[in-house]
Amino acid sequence: TSLLDPAALRADFAILDEHVNGRPLVYLDSGATSQKPRAVIDAEVAFLTRTNSAVHRGAHTLAAEATELFEDARATVAGFVGAEPEQLVWTSGATTALNLVAYAVGNASLGRGAPASARFALGDGDEIVVTESEHHANLIPWQELAARTGAVLRHIPIHDDGTLDLDAAAAVITERTRILAFPHVSNVLGIVNPVAELVALARRVGALTVMDACQSAPHLPLDLPGLGVDLAAFSGHKMLGPYGIGGLYGRADVLDALPPFLTGGSMITTVTLDAAEYLPAPQKFEAGTQPVSQAIGLAAAVRYLDGIGMDAVHAHEQHIERRMREGLRAIEGVRLLGDPSTGSGQRPSGQVDRVALSAFDVAGVHAHDVGQFLDARGVAVRVGHHCAKPLHARLGLTASVRASASVFTTESDVDVFLEAVSGVRAFFGATS
Ligand code: PMP
Repeated sequence: TSLLDPAALRADFAILDEHVNGRPLVYLDSGATSQKPRAVIDAEVAFLTRTNSAVHRGAHTLAAEATELFEDARATVAGFVGAEPEQLVWTSGATTALNLVAYAVGNASLGRGAPASARFALGDGDEIVVTESEHHANLIPWQELAARTGAVLRHIPIHDDGTLDLDAAAAVITERTRILAFPHVSNVLGIVNPVAELVALARRVGALTVMDACQSAPHLPLDLPGLGVDLAAFSGHKMLGPYGIGGLYGRADVLDALPPFLTGGSMITTVTLDAAEYLPAPQKFEAGTQPVSQAIGLAAAVRYLDGIGMDAVHAHEQHIERRMREGLRAIEGVRLLGDPSTGSGQRPSGQVDRVALSAFDVAGVHAHDVGQFLDARGVAVRVGHHCAKPLHARLGLTASVRASASVFTTESDVDVFLEAVSGVRAFFGATS
C-alpha cells in the first residue's frame, strides 16, 4: 500500500485554509458531510459552463455530450463499488435510495410489478430485521413498510462493546425474515460489520439484504457484488462529492424484478391514458429529471479517491483512528462509544476493522457544550444523537460527540482536537 500524504492533499481543499473563531479550521466532521476537492467543484462548473443540457432527450449536440458525460459518470461510480453501470440507480442520496427500496417492496406487496416481483411481497407475519445501530434512514422506512404491509419489525442487538451480537442474529433471522437491513459501518460506532456472516444468515432463509454503505464507501475499498448484498445505498456528499446525489446498487435480478417507486417521465417505453410499460433498470427507477451535474461531480470525486487508492485511504484513516482513540482513552472522563478493545473482552483487541470515526461522551458535560468548546478552538465536530436515537438509548445516552476524519486529516489535526478535549472537564467544572 502506497502511503498517503494528507498535508499534500490539503492543497486540493481550499476550505481547509479557513479560520474559524480566529483559529485554523480543524475539520473533523466528514462523517456528516465531507469537504469537496477542487477537482469535484471544477467538474461541476465545467459541465454547467460548457455542456449543460437535458440528457437522454433531444437530438442536438450538447444533449448528446451531456448524455455521454452522465452515463460515463454512472460507469465510473458503479466501477468504484465493483458494479456494472446498469446496477447503479442514481438517487438524491442514501435516504432516498433506502426509501426507494422500501416503497418498491411495498408496491410488490400490493401486487404491482412483474410476476417476478411476487418474491418480494410482504404480508401479515412476515418479518423485517434491522440492527440496533441503525441510522434513522435505514430504520424508519422499514417501520413504515411494516405498518403498510402488516409485517413485523425485529432487530439484532449489539454487545456492550458495540459489535453486533451474531448469536442473537442467528436467532432473530428465521424463515419468516423477508428483509435484512444493516449498516456496513455504523455512523456512531465506526465498526465495520461482518457482512459475510450477515449475508449468509439472510441467504439461508431467502431474505433480501439491504446494506447502508454511507460510512464505508468513502473510507474502504468496496466491492458490493463481492460482498454478496442484494442492494446497497450510499451518499455522494459523504464521499467528497456534491450534495443531492447518491446511489442505489442492486443485483441485476433484484433490480429487474422490483417494481418502481417514483413514476413519470424518462422511465417508460410505452404510455397510453390507461397504462404504461417501463424501461429496464436502472432507468425504471429514475423518473423525472436527474441531478446531472451532481452525478458528474460524484464521478470526479471517486476518480480523486481512486487516484489516491482506497487501500491507502483506509490505511491512513486507520492510523488517524488509532491516534485519536488512544488519545481519547487517555483523557479522564471520556467514554468511547463502541470500543471492542476495552469492552466485554469477548474478542482480542485489534480484530475489529474500523473507519476513522469516534463518538464519545464526556462525563458531566453535555455533548453540545463540548461541541461549542471545541468550536471556539476551531475544531468542527458533530454533536447530538447523529440520527441514531435507539443506539444512543441502548448506550444509556441521549447525545454524544463525534469526530470523523478524511483523507486530508493530519496527525496535527488530531493533536489539536485531543488537546482541546482534555481541557473540557476543567473548563466546565465537571466533577462526576
Ligand atoms: N446512513 C448513514 C449511516 C448515514 O451516516 C447517513 C448520513 N448521516 C445516512 C444514512 C443518510 O444519508 P443522506 O442524508 O445523505 O441521505
